[in-house]
Amino acid sequence: MVITVASGKGGTGKTTVSTSLTVAISRQKTVSHVDLDVEEPDSNIFLKVPIKREEMIWLPLPVIDYEKCTFCGVCQRVCEYNAIFVFKNTKEVKVFDQLCRGCGACKEMCPYDAIYEVQRYIGIFSYGEKGNIRFYEGRLNVGEYVTTDAIRWVKRRLKKINDSEITVIDAPPGTSCPVIHSMKDADFVLLVTEDTPFGLFDMKLAYGVAKKMNKKMGIIINKALPGFTETREFAKKENVPVLMEIPFDRKFAKAYAEGITLSEYSDEFRERFEEVFSYIEKEVENA
Ligand code: SF4
Ligand code: SF4
Repeated sequence: MVITVASGKGGTGKTTVSTSLTVAISRQKTVSHVDLDVEEPDSNIFLKVPIKREEMIWLPLPVIDYEKCTFCGVCQRVCEYNAIFVFKNTKEVKVFDQLCRGCGACKEMCPYDAIYEVQRYIGIFSYGEKGNIRFYEGRLNVGEYVTTDAIRWVKRRLKKINDSEITVIDAPPGTSCPVIHSMKDADFVLLVTEDTPFGLFDMKLAYGVAKKMNKKMGIIINKALPGFTETREFAKKENVPVLMEIPFDRKFAKAYAEGITLSEYSDEFRERFEEVFSYIEKEVENA
C-alpha cells in the first residue's frame, strides 16, 4: 500500500504529517518512508534514521564522437528540450547539460552513430533503517532542474529494493510534474493544508490533480483556526473526509523546530495518527 502525503504549497506541515504517520505505523508494522521532495528533503530531520548507503542519481548525457559526426543537424531537430545545438560553421555540437533530460532521442536518431553517453551525476539517493522504519531519500544537487527525472530514478531504484508492505511518500509541494509522479502509484493521497484562504486555494489545486488521477483522498488540516470554516465546507462539498485537525499552537511549532514528530510528542497524537492509518487501510482494502 502506498500513501502519498501531498500539499498544494510548501510550509503547510506536510513533513510533520508524513513523518508522524510513519512513526505511528512503525509501532506495529514495517513501513518505508520515501522522501521524494528531492529539492529540499527534510524527513530525516524528524525520523533520524542512520544512513547506511548512498548512491549517485544520474542521467545519461550525450557526448559527440567527432570522428563520425557529419554535422547533419538531426540531433538538434529531435531534441524536445533544446539541449543540443549543431554549429555547422564552426563544426561543433554543443550539449547543454542543465537542459538535457537524458532521454536518449539524439543518440537513437543520429544517422552516423556519432553519439555515445556518459553518466551525469544529478543527486544522491540514500537509505537506512531504524526499527521498523526503512528510510529512502532522493536529494537533487543544488542548481539542478531535473526534479522529475530524479524522482523517476528514485522510483525505479525503489522497485528493486523496497519490499515493505506499506510505503509513505513525502511528495514535493505544488501541483506540477514532480507531484504527479509522486502520486502516480498511490493507493491513497493524504492532503495537508493550512487553515487559511491561501492554504485552501493551493490545496484545491492538489485536490484537483489527485481527483483527475482517481485517487482516494483524505485531508489533514494543520494550524487549525476556530473562525475559518471554508476548508471544512470544501471538504464536505467534495465529500473528502477531514481525518485530523492539528490546532494552531506554539508548542507544536516548538516540537517541529526541535525535529520531533507529533507521534513522539504525545501519545494522544500517536493514537490519532494510528486512527488515520486504520481509516486509510480500510479504504484501500475496500477499493
Ligand atoms: S545527428 Fe549525429 S552526425 Fe548529425 S550532427 Fe548530431 S551527432 Fe552529428
Ligand atoms: S538526451 Fe534527449 S534531452 Fe538530452 S540532448 Fe539528447 S535528445 Fe536532448
